[in-house]
Amino acid sequence: MINVTKTFLPDQERYIEYVKGIWERGYLTNNGPLLQELEQQLKEYLHVDHLYFCTNGTIVLQIAIKALGITGEVITTPFSYCATSNAIIWENCIPVFVDIDRTTFNIDADLIEAAITPATTAILATHVYGNPCDVEKIEAVARKHGLKVIYDAAHAFGVLYKGRSLLSYGDVSTCSFHSTKVFHTIEGGALISNHPELDKEFHLLRAFGHQGDENYFYAGINGKNSEFHAAMGLCNLPHVKDIISARKTVFDLYDSLLNWNVLSAPARPDDLEYNYAYYPVVFPSEEIMKTVMEALRAEDIIPRRYFYPSLNTLKFMPKQFPCPVSEDIATRVLSLPLYVGLPEDDVRRISGIINNYLPA
Ligand SMILES: *Cc1c(COP(=O)(O)O)cnc(C)c1O
Repeated sequence: MINVTKTFLPDQERYIEYVKGIWERGYLTNNGPLLQELEQQLKEYLHVDHLYFCTNGTIVLQIAIKALGITGEVITTPFSYCATSNAIIWENCIPVFVDIDRTTFNIDADLIEAAITPATTAILATHVYGNPCDVEKIEAVARKHGLKVIYDAAHAFGVLYKGRSLLSYGDVSTCSFHSTKVFHTIEGGALISNHPELDKEFHLLRAFGHQGDENYFYAGINGKNSEFHAAMGLCNLPHVKDIISARKTVFDLYDSLLNWNVLSAPARPDDLEYNYAYYPVVFPSEEIMKTVMEALRAEDIIPRRYFYPSLNTLKFMPKQFPCPVSEDIATRVLSLPLYVGLPEDDVRRISGIINNYLPA
């Protein structure tokens, strides 16, 4: 079976070396030495000053919302994974969906201002597929209206925009290190912040708001990650450059093979060092997309509908907002298999099947 992704696994012996060390120390979690080592290496790799390794890419969104004191309405994108808007709801805020840009599939920064109300306190935008949001415009609107900015950068590991880590934008950026992402720690995530004054806050919030013997500061949560997860990160991090370059090879091959007279893909800005996190293609109609999906499934090839449905259409959203562009793209987009070790022949076969079902 060819899945949309296949988790990269490092050399097993190397992981076992780390596990032996954990056994020797008998120290399994709670800000351990491997976790601290991983945080240090990640800061260097990503060129960021403040980074906190946590249990996953969802809890870091919640911690970011909490730490920045965000309440009321949060302007967000309907074209993302449900974790983005769920975190807003979980923190007792209301997601206000603003439609996406038809070319980049990111939140349309020109529509944000019209969605601001007296209850708005923040913008939470996703760099979808690792493709940068219009960070300058978002920052300008946020500044003008005194709003906080959080980027869900779950797809943006290692991306450089205008020579700067994409993770360094906004008040806080969050990352996911889930097994399906470009860099993984089995389960994991990180907060990246531009606020040194929030350092203590982040440490506390991920550890119950409790420090030492009897210091209970506030109602934190358990977002601490373990030495075993940190060890996986330490094994994988040295491979990230090769992982990204192997993904690029597959990505470029699809680019050269697919029929772009009929298909389309999100536009990427100039001055971008990309991570090739996903390979989304947009079909002319949902019907054609479904026909192609079935044809691929018949060959045991499993693409995924990233992202469908448009989050604004989910029944449990506290308020309804129409987002016609996102709803349209979401019904017609498919993410194709993309991972290290996907054979060239398979990329050719997948592209052939797709092109075969497209109208002339
Ligand atoms: C994967 C993902 C998340 C959630 O990350 P987890 O580590 O699985 O909790 C959040 N946002 C986006 C955009 C994602 O793709």
